[in-house]
Amino acid sequence: MQNKIKAFMEKVIQKNPGEKEFHQAVQEVVESVMPFIEKNPKYQDAKILERIVEPERVLMFRVPWQDDKGGVQVHRGFRIEMNSALGPYKGGLRFHPSVYLGILKFLAFEQVFKNSLTTLPMGGGKGGSDFDPKGKSDNEVMRFCQSFMTELQRHIGPDTDVPAGDIGVGGREIGYLFGQYKRIRNEFTGVLTGKGLSWGGSLIRPEATGYGCVYFAQEMLKTRGDSLKGKVCAVSGSGNVAQYTVEKLLHLGAKSVTLSDSSGYIYDPDGISEQKLEFVMELKNVKRGRIKEYAAKYSCKYVEGRWPWEVKCDCAFPSATQNEIHESDANQLVKNGCMLVAEGANMPTLPEAIKVFQQAKILYGPGKASNAGGVATSGLEMSQNSQRLSWTKEEVDEKLRQIMIKIHDVCVKHGKKGTFINYVDGANLAGFIKVADAMLDQGLV
Ligand code: NDP
Repeated sequence: MQNKIKAFMEKVIQKNPGEKEFHQAVQEVVESVMPFIEKNPKYQDAKILERIVEPERVLMFRVPWQDDKGGVQVHRGFRIEMNSALGPYKGGLRFHPSVYLGILKFLAFEQVFKNSLTTLPMGGGKGGSDFDPKGKSDNEVMRFCQSFMTELQRHIGPDTDVPAGDIGVGGREIGYLFGQYKRIRNEFTGVLTGKGLSWGGSLIRPEATGYGCVYFAQEMLKTRGDSLKGKVCAVSGSGNVAQYTVEKLLHLGAKSVTLSDSSGYIYDPDGISEQKLEFVMELKNVKRGRIKEYAAKYSCKYVEGRWPWEVKCDCAFPSATQNEIHESDANQLVKNGCMLVAEGANMPTLPEAIKVFQQAKILYGPGKASNAGGVATSGLEMSQNSQRLSWTKEEVDEKLRQIMIKIHDVCVKHGKKGTFINYVDGANLAGFIKVADAMLDQGLV
């Protein structure tokens, strides 16, 4: 089996040189599904695995825009339309200087399986730019978004491809992007999700990824007769996902003691209260400041240039970016008694670190399952847009909770090995089978 996986990966690496995050994401899925494919020749004969790693379409385009001083800036825009077997391409846009083809292909690839797990009719895609909204004025961000959408609009549509937010793309950016789409196409449609509430957005969409991740953690703990009540939690990041993870943990009686950004992390042993969280939301979403300011305001510890995984905690919620938990961090977490890791971010844990968690038999929920609540609620936003109605906060929250329970159940079904649940295999297999079967049904496309 290992030889087959190795041979397959050699081809992937050769065809996609230099895209190391994409290789990492593919390797993880292939390790889970290869034994299943071996036993089911119909997938092998139809070369499903070879086809699933090949994007249906890759778009790459120039995004010129003018800064506040009148200078010309040029960035690169992308949209990866990875797989449409289950529905229109769906997945976020990331604006971050680290963005290149390899990052977006890994994210689009993960998205295919994640969207399949939600049970909603969505294919997988991802896009973005190497543009950095940090330090730009609102007007600069608007001009960039307008230029980006001027090209992207010809490739997307409510029945074709429906982007959303991701790192660096929040409510402000979605607003500017939607405005430009509407202006060029003269159509008010559900072409993006994460929209403002008064113009087609869904209640609970901003909260959904964080809330969903905590609901997933709750289900994982239930398998061991435990709950989140009283648990000390380390959360990384301080953006959309981290903020609403902290909020839901508070609702469920847990205590979050850390938050971070790309400069460092804060450690508040008293816990981040509702009032402190309000400060973080204002700081990050309106003032666009640094998390360090939290430490100054609430007189707690700030650690420059490090991740919070050295802090003692019961549960960890990585909610910043890919590859933020290294093997040494995983060892430290386990040594400190951490019993659960639920990923709000996409692929935040390196493969060697995943092995540490699995060998220690702690509860480890991979992002494509545990953070699927965001895209699931985007799916609910699309349904509301098509029906031209809006559900209440309680209705959407309950639908989200039920979806997370179903995702957990299907991971258990495919990942249970004796008394241990391998959520990685569970998520990969369950996600794969549905997409693969749809691809078989639809012929050689
Ligand atoms: P935001 O842009 O709102 O926040 C990102 C946070 O992570 C910021 O605090 C940022 O710090 C930090 N961060 C980003 N890159 C790095 C880095 N290279 N090193 C250290 N810190 C970093 O993004 P989201 O909260 O939306 O996304 C966070 C993660 O969750 C991503 O992995 C995303 O793919 C994933 N995700 C998001 C979903 C959503 O609905 N938004 C859905 C599913 C997954 P700084 O401000 O200093 O850059």
